[in-house]
Amino acid sequence: MQVLQNYIGGQFVPPASGNYLDNYNPATGEIFGKIPDSEESDVAAAVAAAASAFPAWSNLPLEQRHDILHAVSDGITQNLDRLAEAETLDSGKTLATSRTVDIPRAALNFKFFATALLHFASESTHMPGSLSYTLRQPLGVVGCISPWNLPLYLFTWKIAPALAAGNCVIGKPSEVTPLTAYLLGEICNAAGLPPGVLNIVHGLGPKAGEAIVRHPQVKAVSFTGSTRAGAEIARIAAPMFKKLSLELGGKNPNLIFADCDYDKMLETTVRSSFNNQGQICLCGSRIYVESSIYEKFRKDFTERVKNLKVGDPKDPASNLGAVVSKMHFEKVMSYLELARQEGGTVLTGGQALQLPAPLDKGWYIAPTVIDGLGLDCRTNQEEIFGPVVTIQPFDSDAEALALANGVPYGLSATVWTNNLKRTHWLAANLQAGIVWVNCWLLRDLRTPFGGVKQSGVGREGGWEAMRFFSETKNVTIAE
Ligand code: NAD
Repeated sequence: MQVLQNYIGGQFVPPASGNYLDNYNPATGEIFGKIPDSEESDVAAAVAAAASAFPAWSNLPLEQRHDILHAVSDGITQNLDRLAEAETLDSGKTLATSRTVDIPRAALNFKFFATALLHFASESTHMPGSLSYTLRQPLGVVGCISPWNLPLYLFTWKIAPALAAGNCVIGKPSEVTPLTAYLLGEICNAAGLPPGVLNIVHGLGPKAGEAIVRHPQVKAVSFTGSTRAGAEIARIAAPMFKKLSLELGGKNPNLIFADCDYDKMLETTVRSSFNNQGQICLCGSRIYVESSIYEKFRKDFTERVKNLKVGDPKDPASNLGAVVSKMHFEKVMSYLELARQEGGTVLTGGQALQLPAPLDKGWYIAPTVIDGLGLDCRTNQEEIFGPVVTIQPFDSDAEALALANGVPYGLSATVWTNNLKRTHWLAANLQAGIVWVNCWLLRDLRTPFGGVKQSGVGREGGWEAMRFFSETKNVTIAE
């Protein structure tokens, strides 16, 4: 039984209450560990440790901060196997995904922002009689709260820029997938990160997470997770005038036009639908296809999806592993039931899968394609966040756009076409923070990342993240 501890002031410490939560392996449904059920006093201890490490951390020479964050990146890479196995054990995602996506990206997040801090600069303007310049100063103590779908990947995506900008951090990973964040503490100590610069508190959202948001010394909160929790965080933080970055849910459309590169589109659409069991905020879950190729697409896509193998996450032959928890499994299953009630036709999937022992109690769902549902049903309006997509035909560019924009969310959209004029028109008019054209999940870490409408406020990535984690001050000097 692995018993995790909080990481406060560079030490691994038990929760003040002595209470722990169970940690499950989604592949087998078994409890394999315990995690601290932290509360306000644990968060207060973490904030005190962070406050005492600030501003010494931000006053270190840039090169020294760069070297330490770079060493964290190297430490993640050196621990690739261990971290990948931990991520798969905790989340049910395939080991191949952990090894090739999650852990390498976590290392890259630290490398990217370690170098960014060397180049982060501010502007100055001059007019007759005065010179103005902008100071971008660290905020002090900041909170970073992350979800379970890309555990170390998204945790580090927040922590790395927060540290690079000179802040000290209280991080809270999801209580569903805490393991790799725990291991990160060891890596940070080995890399020479001074005690208190990063603190990791484990526990439940409404308890440990909310205590971070409420703490008066926490100046900013960067949150990735559900729209529901994001609204709750905004409600608490707004009257305290904290800086907030909220990366929330999605219900992303794929628009497929008849003039696209069909084979590439088909292969990528299978990936963008079912990668990580459909549990990526950027997965396309509403697939709209131009009528002239709809029948062909429906047949080819369904056939491809039928051939996907759901199995042991550790088996290299598995395309999909387990969904992350019993609660999430039940949520996705309830949407499969709802889709049928709403009149949808299940073309493939539509049910839970029972694998042979020792995986027989794991949470597995067959990748599912549903036809025959319109835009306005709940299946097409609400985020399911599992291996479930709907497909629907459209007849014109205008109809495709209306379908794409007809939900409360606006995170990403994917467009498959070779028509330049249409591409620009859709890119300008799609209500989304990210538009992919003839690709999916192609990430340049310098680009702004985030959503509109109920998918959130604020942007991460590149200078956007460095600016979010800084306070901007203008100074004007008369000549
Ligand atoms: P969640 O909102 O339940 O939890 C996310 C994190 O917030 C966890 O660490 C949780 O403990 C904490 N939390 C929950 N309630 C809180 C509260 N009241 N105060 C403070 N912290 C709280 O989300 P989840 O189920 O872990 O993740 C899935 C969701 O995340 C999906 O909606 C998905 O779309 C979204 N997501 C969005 C992005 C993006 O970039 N926009 C990326 C990944 C996931």
